[in-house]
Amino acid sequence: MPIAPAFDRTNRPIARLLRHDEQVDRELTPWERDLLAALASAPGPQLETIRESLPHLVWTGGCGCGCASFNVRDSRYEEPPHELFHYSNGWTPDHSISFAFYLGEGDRPISLDILTEPEYFDARPDPATIVVVPAGP
Ligand SMILES: [Zn+2]
Repeated sequence: MPIAPAFDRTNRPIARLLRHDEQVDRELTPWERDLLAALASAPGPQLETIRESLPHLVWTGGCGCGCASFNVRDSRYEEPPHELFHYSNGWTPDHSISFAFYLGEGDRPISLDILTEPEYFDARPDPATIVVVPAGP
């Protein structure tokens, strides 16, 4: 069953809202890193490029709404243009939280949207339990 595209409650694509100029890049938390690795495990022609980028990713911005969505950047490259390719989707076994993973220029990871209700904003589900599927055409 296809997952709805990543929109927040105001129907704006979440990934376009994330960058805040005042934010400074930082290391990923272990949970963020494991979550990216889980979403990156979906099969696809970009898989090897994504895996090669994973150790080099840094956090570049969060979401103003209070959810845990975040943008990343391969620290070996300049900030890429914010062009998104939807690579994979995921969800927790209880479907309380959904995930949408995006690639940017050169198939490098750029954004991970975390879609859920405010009551789950602080949840950090074990990435090993997340069901991951390719986003598809
Ligand atoms: Zn948000």
